[in-house]
Amino acid sequence: MTPALTVEGLTVVADGRRGSAVEIVRDVSFTVARGARMGLVGESGSGKTMTAMAVMGLLRRPLRVSGGSVLLGDTDLRALRGRALARVRGGRVAMIYQDPMQSLNPLHRVGEQIAEAIRLHAEVGRREAMARAVELLTDVGIDDPAVKARAYPHELSGGMRQRVMIAMALAADPELLLCDEPTTALDVTTQRRIVELLVRISRERGVAMVMITHDLGVAAGFCDEIAVMYAGRLVEQAPVRELYAAPRHPYTEALLGAACDLTLPLERPIPTIAGQPPLPGRLAGGCSFHPRCPYAQEVCTLERPLLAAPDAAAPARVACHFALTREKVRHG
Ligand code: SF4
Repeated sequence: MTPALTVEGLTVVADGRRGSAVEIVRDVSFTVARGARMGLVGESGSGKTMTAMAVMGLLRRPLRVSGGSVLLGDTDLRALRGRALARVRGGRVAMIYQDPMQSLNPLHRVGEQIAEAIRLHAEVGRREAMARAVELLTDVGIDDPAVKARAYPHELSGGMRQRVMIAMALAADPELLLCDEPTTALDVTTQRRIVELLVRISRERGVAMVMITHDLGVAAGFCDEIAVMYAGRLVEQAPVRELYAAPRHPYTEALLGAACDLTLPLERPIPTIAGQPPLPGRLAGGCSFHPRCPYAQEVCTLERPLLAAPDAAAPARVACHFALTREKVRHG
């Protein structure tokens, strides 16, 4: 079956002065099967959000896609323009952001906003659209949906606003949902409920989802598969259990080692990843991670490792000259 999303060789650049361009996302390829949930994880600035924005066709100057393809099912999104692109965006593919207040109009009742999103993609009257909006609020677990539909965004809690955003994203029955740090601004309990809601929606409606997050705990509870980004590239991709049990890339191992563990004694220092993520345009030669990698050898400074299966039996792909084995992993 055709995947819900196929990204091949996606490259995003930021245009500079005198014709210069800096690569922000570099040759990224992945697929997301229908109804599957993939996590795109990495530190801030690793290119996760830019990848999602490029998939949605939302990049604005000086950013642009300079290469690669993005297929939604069989539809080439890069070939779409104007109204054709607008019909797909918010229709077949929708996005949820970290801060719902940035996306919701503070001057309109939330039910009206969802109904408007429904009418943008379906020929239905106002009354029918409002009835569907109330149904969607019910689906996303909002109590008293008819009453809440009449509320303004500021009258709702952060968790409820995010549920409203999810309802709005579902308005046109999308086949793909991109979730950009959708739980970052929420408390831990609400985070968990939103993640559970997204998993339920994906299962019940068969919606493929890509979760962009720096939080490996959130990713673990949500994803079937995880793709790790570093300095604009994918460095590892693996089924979630495999990746947590035995990360193959030293950066993935370091990310897992630096994840907050509330069971550890307070006096124990919180582990961090040595060094800083590189700035775009100032990447080290060879493997971009080599200045921070405890396993680096000379070849790492000279040759860029390609993303490939480390051995025939592995379901993972990893970009490392010395991919870790289960025995070598040090995290945990
Ligand atoms: Fe570390 Fe070398 Fe692997 Fe890069 S290629 S992650 S520097 S061991």
